[in-house]
Amino acid sequence: MASSWLEARRQCLRLLKTRGFLLLKLSAAVLAVLLFCEFLIYYLVIFRCSWPELKTPEDAGTPGAPKAPEPVLRAMFLADTHLLGAIRGHWLDKLRREWQMERAFQTALWLLQPEVVFILGDIFDEGKWSSPEAWADDVGRFWKVFRHPPHVQLRAVAGNHDIGFHYQMDTYRIKRFEKVFNPERLFSWKGINFVMINSVALEGDGCDICSRAEAELLEISHWLNCSREEHRPRGCGDRQWLSASAPILLQHFPLYRKNDANCSGEDAAPLNEKYTPFKERYDVLSWEVSRKLLWWLRPRLILSGHTHSACEVQHRAGTLEVSVPSFSWRNRNNPSFIMGSITPMDYALAKCYLPCEDMVLTTYCVAAGCLMLIMLIPTRLVSAPFHFGQRVLRKFKTM
Ligand SMILES: [Zn+2]
Repeated sequence: MASSWLEARRQCLRLLKTRGFLLLKLSAAVLAVLLFCEFLIYYLVIFRCSWPELKTPEDAGTPGAPKAPEPVLRAMFLADTHLLGAIRGHWLDKLRREWQMERAFQTALWLLQPEVVFILGDIFDEGKWSSPEAWADDVGRFWKVFRHPPHVQLRAVAGNHDIGFHYQMDTYRIKRFEKVFNPERLFSWKGINFVMINSVALEGDGCDICSRAEAELLEISHWLNCSREEHRPRGCGDRQWLSASAPILLQHFPLYRKNDANCSGEDAAPLNEKYTPFKERYDVLSWEVSRKLLWWLRPRLILSGHTHSACEVQHRAGTLEVSVPSFSWRNRNNPSFIMGSITPMDYALAKCYLPCEDMVLTTYCVAAGCLMLIMLIPTRLVSAPFHFGQRVLRKFKTM
């Protein structure tokens, strides 16, 4: 009697031990999958990105002795982060998207070491209508997600979701945006001139805010023209001399284009949206304002956001405009950012893709399937046919 009780106890302990081990293994597997999908994958994917190489003067076929290389500015351009607000954002959606953007941004900072980061508008989803409290909360979360060391500069332009479309935009919303982000329209570093435009204010209807925005741009155009002259012409005053480098335009709305029909690449607009005509002053800037910007500023490159999809457009005089896709997984399965190696006279761009959402979800599904199988193995469902086979074999052996 006592021996059978002892045997039963031993069996019970053995079972508990087996189950404990199984639980431990399962927990380790779950942790490993989480670690991979939520942390390591960003390193693996972004590690493949590298700064584009600029042509050396010899490559470019410059005659004579090779010049000393110009200092190269490493700039990262991203757009449409759409940090969810208090009204439309479900807490789980917010948590997930902000975690993804935080990991992507922090990993990119660590691996690629940019000197300056530009965000091309629609940083917040609800800046156009958020209360002062909700705005403060959104801004606090923004600085957590996009925290950066002091030697990295972060600059941003306003988008329609930050300050509202033209009919919603007012001085209060513009001021509170500019209180968070540097309001300077002209930013020069390493001899490279960036003009950062509030494209929402370029409605061209002569409203107060629009007139001020145009006057600012005309002034910048004047200073850029002064810098292009070899000798300081009259009327250029004592203002700090800019380098004689054509500017790079950064704005939220793209310059006027009919639609995205000529855009290509894996992150261009889908086929059913490509031929939809763009509405001026809503999807893109008006034709007139676009001409004015090209005429006034004579940029060598334009980068814009707003469409959430990629596109490259050649404007008059061969000026390239790059539409930067959204940085948020809420808007795309395959977000990305642009990496630019820039000197006063030259630039090279490359795109860095971030992990695809469907790849992460597939990994989770496959891992969940494997775990289910492992959990089923010790149960009778899986073990019954195995034990039956064992018993049959034993029977044949003893005969
Ligand atoms: Zn937008």
